[in-house]
Amino acid sequence: MAGTSSGMSSGMSSGSHNSGIFGLVESMGHEQVVFCHDKASGLKAIIGIHDTTLGPALGGTRMWDYASDEDALVDVLRLSRGMTYKAACAGLNLGGGKAVIIGDAKKIKSEALFRAFGRFVNSLGGRYITAEDVNINVNDIEQVAAETRFVTGISSRPGGSGDPSPVTAWGVYSGIRAAVKHRLGKDSLHGMRVAVQGVGAVGKYLCGYLAKDMVKLVVTDVDPAKVDYAVKEFGATAVRDTDIYSADVDVFAPCALGAIINDETIPLLKAKIVAGGANNQLLNEERHGSALVERNILYAPDYVINAAGLINVYNELIGYNAEVARKQAGNIYHTLSSVFADADKRGIPTGKASDLFAERRIASVRGVAGLRNTVTNQSWSPEWAKL
Ligand code: NAD
Repeated sequence: MAGTSSGMSSGMSSGSHNSGIFGLVESMGHEQVVFCHDKASGLKAIIGIHDTTLGPALGGTRMWDYASDEDALVDVLRLSRGMTYKAACAGLNLGGGKAVIIGDAKKIKSEALFRAFGRFVNSLGGRYITAEDVNINVNDIEQVAAETRFVTGISSRPGGSGDPSPVTAWGVYSGIRAAVKHRLGKDSLHGMRVAVQGVGAVGKYLCGYLAKDMVKLVVTDVDPAKVDYAVKEFGATAVRDTDIYSADVDVFAPCALGAIINDETIPLLKAKIVAGGANNQLLNEERHGSALVERNILYAPDYVINAAGLINVYNELIGYNAEVARKQAGNIYHTLSSVFADADKRGIPTGKASDLFAERRIASVRGVAGLRNTVTNQSWSPEWAKL
């Protein structure tokens, strides 16, 4: 793990590693960071492997025109660490990883670049498994896959897991049920009111599941056609953009953007629960997590409630079965119930409780050191590398 040090060979000056790149890597707990450069194709990429205690590090590759290399490094470290927590809470045998390719997606894409990146991924022998992310489409990832088998989430492949949105939405629906049980003491959603912000892929399926439970829906979207669909299909009431925050509902389900729970929106909320599929819902994890507690609003941590997208691609790795994936997504109900109970017991925000939930699982598996594979020194099976 990052942070361990070995003796220095003679003739080299020893110094503090608490600053610079290693300081950052140590503070975030990463095992390995790989800088990838290929002059011919112009590839500049960074792969972050945060923690492989539970299994190989899985996470998508994003392409972004970062203002600086430091910004790219911080982003990949942050995102890969987030994947460790997400996989751990979801009960998956996966660690956390992520990759960033530096550059303007409109200018730098080429077959050579993606194949060069694929060779770097392959060189890691399965410690990192990649997938699509921001600005990387299925054609790009197919080119990566020409060089490595450590790629997943290619929905068009035979045996592919397909569109993850229905499974993600099922996980969110299960999480809303857990939150309603915990906060409002109700086993059924019948007659509840839920506001859905964003009725795109996840939001639309979520509305479908909720409508079957006779939930009264309030929706908004910047795309009027999507709003019309929700109104016609699910009997939803449409509201204009920011009116979604003050809607008179039991649950607010963000399914569009990040950072929407902030100083401006928290005072507007009438909902007693925030539980939705969007990533990075809190502008500031600590401050806004606490602000929701102060207002007695129960927050379902985003990376726990929306983990079924990851559950879906994990199932592709082990042999896709839609029923199994959906059942695992439904288990988000139980995970969130435990997280809520623990947060109450400790008097901490739910986001902190879910972090502890993940850390406990990783620590318990790390603790079985005696059973480590003596060849690979990994606690997960080297069979992963033969995928
Ligand atoms: P999407 O693009 O299909 O849907 C997002 C919707 O939000 C669109 O209809 C868009 O018009 C709308 N929108 C954008 N800005 C808005 C605004 N200001 N107000 C209201 N609506 C707005 O995306 P998606 O796949 O449904 O993902 C939604 C969120 O869930 C994202 O944060 C995504 O990262 C997260 N997520 C998705 C999955 C998945 O399986 N698709 C998995 C995990 C997390």
